[in-house]
Amino acid sequence: MKALVYHGTGKKRWEEKALPQLLESTDAIVRIVKTTICGTDLHILKGDVPTVEEGRILGHEGIGIVEAVGGAVRNVEVGDKVIISCITVCGSCNSCKRQLYSHCEDGGWILGHKIDGTQAEKVRIPHADSSLHRLPEGIDEEAALMLSDILPTGFEIGVINGKVQPGDTIALIGAGPVGLAALLTSQFYSPAHIIMIDVDDNRLHMAQQFGANTIINPTRQNVVEEIQKLTKGMGVDVAIECVGIPATFKICQDIITAGGHIANVGVHGKSVELHLDELWIKNITITTGLVNTNSTPMLLKSIQSNKISPEKLVTHRYPLSEIETAYEIFGNAAQEKALKIVLTAE
Ligand SMILES: [Zn+2]
Ligand SMILES: [Zn+2]
Repeated sequence: MKALVYHGTGKKRWEEKALPQLLESTDAIVRIVKTTICGTDLHILKGDVPTVEEGRILGHEGIGIVEAVGGAVRNVEVGDKVIISCITVCGSCNSCKRQLYSHCEDGGWILGHKIDGTQAEKVRIPHADSSLHRLPEGIDEEAALMLSDILPTGFEIGVINGKVQPGDTIALIGAGPVGLAALLTSQFYSPAHIIMIDVDDNRLHMAQQFGANTIINPTRQNVVEEIQKLTKGMGVDVAIECVGIPATFKICQDIITAGGHIANVGVHGKSVELHLDELWIKNITITTGLVNTNSTPMLLKSIQSNKISPEKLVTHRYPLSEIETAYEIFGNAAQEKALKIVLTAE
């Protein structure tokens, strides 16, 4: 089969690889129907994730058809269409018993990281019973693909951790795919005012279409002043950080109101300054995390009942065999006006 293989920093190739085999009785083999590229894949290619070995097939998002299952698999059958969760869940270790699936002792984020991933014609999925979600008839495949990673990530680590409440004023910093996923899912809780902050006007424009009431571009506007004006000097109830750099984390600390929540979603490559000297007296809560994907079944129902339409995040489409071109487009996301790129197997 063909797969996108990592060959060390800056190097990847669409090349021939051996077909995956069932290794454990709890495994499934899934034929990929659609997959996509994540910002994390770009981090890997930059060399930011040294736990990824050369020769690894990248990718942790996808939907596909189950082609084979091990003898112990009960929840999915050959022929089922499934969502592949970016988090592999054994369902029985200490972390899984606490629903902390991202820290599953025999799983967590391993796809396209510690084991071969989904940017391939076929993939082996360990612990198939809890790591695959059967896709009901009639659900848009592109919408479902957003459930592998970005939608649960924006929802769980941004919206739920940030404790968005009806009537809140919330600020989202970063209008990339995950920031926009947080924007879409924050609206389950009817915040009164949603502010989106980003340096990319095209993404800000999309955020407006997705429900942002106010957009702020820090290259032209003073974010703190604008938010002070909007909130009559109070600040926002929830600040959701979806970039992962010191400057954006500082914005969150500067705009949060007393009793507010700062939910960090962005992946930070270096340390940030934490102004506890100012925050302690304001009763601020700061949360962090890696997605657990325990919201995936609920999000699937929300798509089914047309409450959210995450397929709107898809901007580009290519055949799977043109994945190298898709990486180039995704790597120049601002110029190309790219959010999520869907790759479909021929
Ligand atoms: Zn991802
Ligand atoms: Zn586990």
